[in-house]
Amino acid sequence: MHLTSSDIVCMAMGLKPEGALAPHEGTCSFCGKNIWPGDRYTKFSVGPSFMDVADLAARGSGMTCGHCTPLMSSAMLRATANGIFSEGGVQPFAKWVDVARGLLNPPEPPFVMLYATRKSQHMAWRARVNLSRDLFYVRVGLRDLKIRRPVLLSAVQACQTLGSFMGIKPTAKSLAHPFAVLSSDLKDPAHSLLRRKGPEKTLDEAAEAYPEAYQLIQSLTLGETWAMRFLLSPNAGAQAAAQSEGALS
Ligand SMILES: [Zn+2]
Repeated sequence: MHLTSSDIVCMAMGLKPEGALAPHEGTCSFCGKNIWPGDRYTKFSVGPSFMDVADLAARGSGMTCGHCTPLMSSAMLRATANGIFSEGGVQPFAKWVDVARGLLNPPEPPFVMLYATRKSQHMAWRARVNLSRDLFYVRVGLRDLKIRRPVLLSAVQACQTLGSFMGIKPTAKSLAHPFAVLSSDLKDPAHSLLRRKGPEKTLDEAAEAYPEAYQLIQSLTLGETWAMRFLLSPNAGAQAAAQSEGALS
């Protein structure tokens, strides 16, 4: 059976199909699932603030499948904004430490990874269904970002090699790395810009000394540089947690 993103999200959250029994065959406007006579469905309907017409799988079908139906409420838009969804349930995917953990250890496929970048963003019905733990897509806001998991660890190592050579010091939150800007929601147009100069050496000198590390960094997908935001700051979440504990005591 072809599983859509909405099927996986509902399975993870234990949501049953909602709606009336379909009197005829059709296609879900949102996720594109086939609807057979007798399947649960509702009539397609969106409010005037719905901005995602371009992403509809089947505009004009007039039908919404039983799994997309419960995902449309504002409470469910909030509940599905960030998470990794699979048959095993929902893993957190909002705090930096959780994002890093999820990217390195995705669940058994099929799974869906969602990372909303604004409030009430429709995420659950239009993400990619991932069938591999080594090559997968994360829905970040309006984009599907490709990530090759085996590349992530080599990229972290390459960043540390280049950063250390340039004299860039690790901090309490962050490993040594040559990036000037890394944006967790990709709203910064300078995301993935590299520092031209460190305290000790330039980027060109680092590239000459470690050509493989430099080429690896240059070959990262947008998804992989996005992942670096979280993987290069392994203690960001831990420190925030420690600070809030400190504030309480
Ligand atoms: Zn659907």
